[in-house]
Amino acid sequence: MKSVDVAVIGGGILGCFAARNLMRWNLSVVLIEKELDICTGITRANSAIVYAGYDNKTGSRKAELTVRGNASFDDLCRELEVPFSRCGSLLVTYDKESLAQLRRKWEQGIRNGVPGLELLTGGEAEAMEPMLAPGVAGALYAPTTGTVNPWQLGIAAFENAAANEMEPMLGTTVVGIRKTKFGYLVETDRSELRCRAVINCAGLSADRIQELCFPSDTHLLIDGAEYLVLDKQARKPKRVIFQQAQSCGKGITAIPCVEGNLLLSGVRKPVGEPFATTKEGISELKTSAVSLFPNLNMQQVIRSFAAARPNPQRDDGESIHDFSIEYPAPGFFSLIGIKTPGLTCANELGRYLAEKTAAFLDAHPNPRFTPHRQAIAKTNDPEIICLCEGISRGEILEAIRRGASTVDGVKRRVGSGMGVCQGSRCSFAIEQILREVRHGAL
Ligand SMILES: Cc1cc2nc3c(=O)[nH]c(=O)nc-3n(C[C@H](O)[C@H](O)[C@H](O)COP(=O)(O)OP(=O)(O)OC[C@H]3O[C@@H](n4cnc5c(N)ncnc54)[C@H](O)[C@@H]3O)c2cc1C
Repeated sequence: MKSVDVAVIGGGILGCFAARNLMRWNLSVVLIEKELDICTGITRANSAIVYAGYDNKTGSRKAELTVRGNASFDDLCRELEVPFSRCGSLLVTYDKESLAQLRRKWEQGIRNGVPGLELLTGGEAEAMEPMLAPGVAGALYAPTTGTVNPWQLGIAAFENAAANEMEPMLGTTVVGIRKTKFGYLVETDRSELRCRAVINCAGLSADRIQELCFPSDTHLLIDGAEYLVLDKQARKPKRVIFQQAQSCGKGITAIPCVEGNLLLSGVRKPVGEPFATTKEGISELKTSAVSLFPNLNMQQVIRSFAAARPNPQRDDGESIHDFSIEYPAPGFFSLIGIKTPGLTCANELGRYLAEKTAAFLDAHPNPRFTPHRQAIAKTNDPEIICLCEGISRGEILEAIRRGASTVDGVKRRVGSGMGVCQGSRCSFAIEQILREVRHGAL
């Protein structure tokens, strides 16, 4: 039976960053993911915002990690060669009654240590973002807000962890965990694994994973959000625009993505089928978007998608607003229901968990750890497979070499299929390349 120091359960962005940070220590680490690829859960569908940190209650773990996580994003993305845009954000309101709320957020942000926050008049906000419908009552400007591609960041952390000798176990589902005298016995659908510590980053299933071994009084209620993606050619705001919810309706968020698309996110909805959109939700989102940006051309919508969000609750019904990290027994760490801003804080949470685990296992720093990872480079290959995004066969082969086993996995590594045709012209050719690689023809 295989024995390791640490088993990380879940290959979303949190598991990938936990694994990456564990490799800074002289520990043997496996990452167990039930899907054949990583970052296909919550990490695959979210708002892609690197939050500034004014939204979180002063003194909370969220407030501290968000401000620190945000400040370290330039260095992190440089190390992992992931595009990051520090575009800034405006929280706008059209309702004079909400101005006091904006002021409270500004005060909270100052207490949290968020740099550069400014309260703006409606006129100042409209001058900064001329696409906004006239009549803005006021805005909160946060210059440190940014955007990043969440799955690219997670994949980069995973590749870096693997380059530092973390062992991935993909397509492997954890089905049981037992406490033993040497640590834990993790039972998967393929084999059993002995480990000294467990880090549970199982996203929507994190509460159930903990209950395989320990009781938990925290459970996840799942709701969702819906999104629209507009073509790169669409007019878009320069900054992330958060619309303050007001008496006459709930606000939306507009995100200028690092790839150049505009992402629109609506309000939360009860989840029927996780990750499925609803006709009503999409139609409400379109109406709200046009009332916030009257010149937005909704003919330029190229895609819609839905996201599932785990909301942690105590058994007595109390909602948990801060990050919930449980330690039910020595050497067992559970992240239960890490929602927004989990992307912003992924590296900080990973570092925190790794330090706790290293202290528990009495580990020493790993002198061979290298934090750098190289992105997939543009090649000179003249054979272009994805015509919209200009992705060559060479890039696709490199994505497959790095672990992509599906058309979607290739997309998430090189951006194929993300253009205006949404993969209708290249999916077949990519499937063909995958088949050839699988059969050893390439
Ligand atoms: C709608 C929405 C919008 C958001 N927007 C933002 C934002 O703009 N900015 C921000 O900072 N944060 C945002 N967040 C938060 C952020 O996206 C999440 O905190 C983060 O993606 C959670 O990652 P994860 O690794 O916990 O979960 P996941 O990505 O879901 O990963 C968990 C993994 O565990 C695996 N797994 C589950 N059970 C098992 C098992 N039994 N065995 C093996 N593997 C298993 C799953 O397959 C999955 O891959 C948003 C969240 C949501 C829901």
